[in-house]
Amino acid sequence: MHALLDLLVPPRCAVCRLAGPLLCAACLSELPLLDGSTCARCGLPAERPVDDCASCRGRRVGFESAAAALLFEGAARDLVHAFKNGGLRGLAVPAAALMALVVGRPAVDVVTWVPADPLREAMRGYHPARLLAEQLALRWDVPSRPLLRAPLWRRPQRGLTRAQRRANVRKAFTAPVAVEGRVGLVDDVHTTGATLTAAALELRRAGAGAVVAATLARAEHA
Ligand SMILES: [Zn+2]
Ligand SMILES: [Zn+2]
Repeated sequence: MHALLDLLVPPRCAVCRLAGPLLCAACLSELPLLDGSTCARCGLPAERPVDDCASCRGRRVGFESAAAALLFEGAARDLVHAFKNGGLRGLAVPAAALMALVVGRPAVDVVTWVPADPLREAMRGYHPARLLAEQLALRWDVPSRPLLRAPLWRRPQRGLTRAQRRANVRKAFTAPVAVEGRVGLVDDVHTTGATLTAAALELRRAGAGAVVAATLARAEHA
């Protein structure tokens, strides 16, 4: 359906809707890049590079570090929305290019992604986090593997409190086979980190030495 529409409708920018490339130069320059100092542990912007911050200190996270390409606001929010809900799977290419540029290549042996509920993925026709992971794996020259499984349906995290999010994703994921080495865990948006933590803890239970999280965007206020 979307492939057919692509043939019939002239290409235009996913953010400003002007005819032209999927992400135009003007919108690209408006994206709030997270290329300054950040907290190495949770990926939030910081005044100087720090190992942890007031937001993540004392909180259990399953990943060793987290980094994102964009702050989840303004044009970045529109970009993520178009990618996740607008059927624009082609945005995976510029989005992963931004991640590769801003996040840099982490020391990982394999890349995987936070899995979608199979029902949601079937309705959407693609899974944004998987497309990002596969693009990044190419750029980082490491394999990408589906290491995690999700239940058929799970309540969306959006609109839940931090405690509700934690409960909603606790034991949400299973790693059906043993995992080795350091794993890059990819998702579209890092909000409270509850989803990334649940996925990372399961990867570590299955044998991963460490989990490094990389997301397209980081929400500053959960
Ligand atoms: Zn644009
Ligand atoms: Zn932090």
